[in-house]
Amino acid sequence: MNKDFLFDLLNTGSVSGNETVLEKKIYDYMQDKADEVTVDELGNVTAAINTTSPFKVLLAGHADEIGLMVTAVGSDGTLMVTNIGGIYPTTYPGHKVRIYTEKGVIYGAVANSRSIAKNTELSASDLRIDIGAKDREDALKYVALGDTVTFDTDVREMLNGCITGRALDDRLGAFIVMEALAEAHKRGASVGCYAVSTTGEETTGNGAYFTSSRVKPNIAIAVDVTYTSDNCGISDALTGEIAVGKGPVICNNPSIHKKLNQLLRDCAKKLGMQIQTEAANGRTGTDGDTMHRTGIGVPFALVSIPLRYMHNPDEVGSLQDVEDCIDLLAEFFVSCTEDLNLRPF
Ligand SMILES: [Zn+2]
Repeated sequence: MNKDFLFDLLNTGSVSGNETVLEKKIYDYMQDKADEVTVDELGNVTAAINTTSPFKVLLAGHADEIGLMVTAVGSDGTLMVTNIGGIYPTTYPGHKVRIYTEKGVIYGAVANSRSIAKNTELSASDLRIDIGAKDREDALKYVALGDTVTFDTDVREMLNGCITGRALDDRLGAFIVMEALAEAHKRGASVGCYAVSTTGEETTGNGAYFTSSRVKPNIAIAVDVTYTSDNCGISDALTGEIAVGKGPVICNNPSIHKKLNQLLRDCAKKLGMQIQTEAANGRTGTDGDTMHRTGIGVPFALVSIPLRYMHNPDEVGSLQDVEDCIDLLAEFFVSCTEDLNLRPF
C-alpha cells in the first residue's frame, strides 16, 4: 500500500460537505489504477474495473470527517461555531485549529480558561475561536459563515505500526477501498468492482445514497472504523472483544448478510489472516445502512478497522490492520462470480 498517499489524505481537511480537495486527490491517484474513475455532482469519486459485467460489487469508505462550521463572528472578531457530526466539544478548548476558507487555510486558537475547562456540559456553540482578528470586520475579510474547521493536527507514527491522528475515521476506509480495487485489478477480478470515497457520511449519508442508487450494486460493503475494547474503549459485552492490530473486524447485526460474512471469513482463511468479530444491534451507523436501502434493496456487509478514541483528535489505529483490510477486500472482489447466489435457501 502507498503509505505516503494515505498520510497525505489524513493530513487533508475534509469536513462533511467540504470534501472536494480530498476527493480530487483520490480522483487523480486512481487514474492509472482503474478502468474508469468518475466524480458525481456531490464529489463522490467512484473507481471501477470490469464495468461491462452485470454483477457489481460496491465498496464504500467515507471521505468526510467530523469538525466544526463557522456560524457567526463576534464583535471582538472571535468565531462562533456549530458541530458537524459527532464531536466531543470538550476536546477543543486550548487547541489550535485550521479554518478552511476560500482563500486557503487560516489558523485559530480555541479559547480556554479555568471555568471553560471545568464545564463538562460544553456544547459547540460555547466554543470561541480566536484568529487574531481586531474585530468582526477584520475577521470577515478572511472568514465566511459556513467555513469548516478541524484541529490543526497531522498524522503521527507510534510504536508497533500504530498511527495517531484526527479523522482516521474514515479516511482510512476511503484509502482502503481504493487500494483494494487497484489490487483486485492486478489479481484479475472478473466481476464489476466499484470503490467509492463517499461524501457526507458523518452528517446525511447522501454520498452513499447517490452512489449506490447510480451503480445499482448486487452487493455492497461499507468499510469504516469501529470501537475497540482494548484501551479505554467500551466493554466486551457491548461489541465483542476488539483490539487494535488484531485484524479487520466483521460485523454481525440483523441487517448484515450472513452469507457475505461467510464469504469474507472464507477469504480471510484462504489468506491465513486473523480477523475479529463484533456484534451490533439495530443499524450499523455507517454507509452500509444507506446502501442497503437503495434501489430494490442491496445485501451488505460491514468491514471495520479497529480504532481507539473514535471522534477524538488522537484516534489510534494500526497500519497492519489497514494492510490486511486491503488484502481481504481485494480477495473478496476476486472471489465473487456472476452466478453468486445469496438466497439463504
Ligand atoms: Zn466513519
